[in-house]
Amino acid sequence: MDKIKMITPLVEIDGDEMTRIIWKQIKDILLEPFIDLNTDYYDLGLPNRDKTDDQVTTDAANAIKKYGVGVKCATITPNDQRMNEYHLKKMWKSPNGTIRAILDGTVFRTPIVIDKIKPVVKNWTKPITIARHAYGDVYRGTEFRIPGEGKAELLYTAKDGTQMRETIYDFECPGVLQGTYNKDTSIESFAHSCFQFALGRKEDLWFSCKDTISKKYDGTFKAIFERIYNESYKSAFEDAGITYFYTLIDDAVARVIRSEGGFIWACKNYDGDVMSDMISTAFGSLAMMTSVLVSPDGNYEYEAAHGTVTRHYYRYLKGEETSTNPVATIFAWTGALKKNGEKDQNTELVGFAGKLEQAVISTLEAGYCTKDLSNLYEGLTPMSLSTTAFLEKIRENL
Ligand code: NAP
Ligand code: MG
Repeated sequence: MDKIKMITPLVEIDGDEMTRIIWKQIKDILLEPFIDLNTDYYDLGLPNRDKTDDQVTTDAANAIKKYGVGVKCATITPNDQRMNEYHLKKMWKSPNGTIRAILDGTVFRTPIVIDKIKPVVKNWTKPITIARHAYGDVYRGTEFRIPGEGKAELLYTAKDGTQMRETIYDFECPGVLQGTYNKDTSIESFAHSCFQFALGRKEDLWFSCKDTISKKYDGTFKAIFERIYNESYKSAFEDAGITYFYTLIDDAVARVIRSEGGFIWACKNYDGDVMSDMISTAFGSLAMMTSVLVSPDGNYEYEAAHGTVTRHYYRYLKGEETSTNPVATIFAWTGALKKNGEKDQNTELVGFAGKLEQAVISTLEAGYCTKDLSNLYEGLTPMSLSTTAFLEKIRENL
């Protein structure tokens, strides 16, 4: 059989621990037998980030800007414990944070819904997509631990030297302080990405934040969404029969739980981080959540929403067989291959990606799964397999 050819290279970003093992298995078992993979490879495994002083992360993000599409494996975000475990030179920043800061844009997270697996929230019959603003706020914040008595102020100096200054708090004891920011340009591109994504999927768009408390910060988000909707999308939404609506985040949470799903929920950076874990867990498993970063200039980075599954990796290192779910990582690859194929008008590649997704779904529908899903099935006794056996089963169906 002739292998499928690729035209533009796909930016391949390797990662850490269990997901790094799965990454290689997916390529060996499901991709390379069928595709002549043309990738621009970046090793973001923690040892190589340390070795390159994290330059490799910046290079990978810039490669996505150059070629348009990337696929990323989960990576470790270093903390104190990782500093010792990997003997790091420095506590490198979150690679996802670095890549998002370079690409800007919005992360869309959608659960992969399987007929035989029922969500914890019984009335959710359709997927809920979280659109997470991937720039700024606490992820680019500046923090102080305040040692004791003293005054904290907020100060802005304009280019012409004029200043705005306000007291934040007159500390009488130790405490904490944090400065966060966002930019109109980034919020605008967040809004455009959300409206366009909603039109593409023909689903309602909800946006929520807390403008009653944060009148200027969150109020700006709300106002920008409203303006861009009225200026650019209102009539297209009406033609598509979909709606945009804003509500406070606490009201949104209540409505989401009571809804039947089938809409896009746009959230600020932190809200999106938290709510996407809630949504994916309630739909079944963190390992069934796909994630794509869409940048305002039309670049795409696909990944799984979960981490490097450290607990499974330590078992793997001891020689134990693991049953880690590879589905979200497979869908990261299929999403990226599809997008790469669409951009190159490579119908064979797009077709293959679609068939691989169908093979995954039909394998799960037939009751073959990894351990995390085995007690979520209804109306069928599933067969829980090791990661390797599960991938082989998908290959058989493919
Ligand atoms: P995690 O890797 O997502 O795993 C948390 C737990 O969720 C696992 O122990 C496992 O539960 C379950 N799980 C997650 N993915 C699974 C899968 N594919 N198959 C089966 N079960 C799965 O989160 P973490 O343990 O908090 O973080 C581990 C490392 O990942 C950290 O170093 C963190 O910095 C990094 N991280 C990276 C990203 C990213 O690159 N996008 C995102 C989050 C975290 P059981 O153990 O109960 O089976
Ligand atoms: Mg999170």
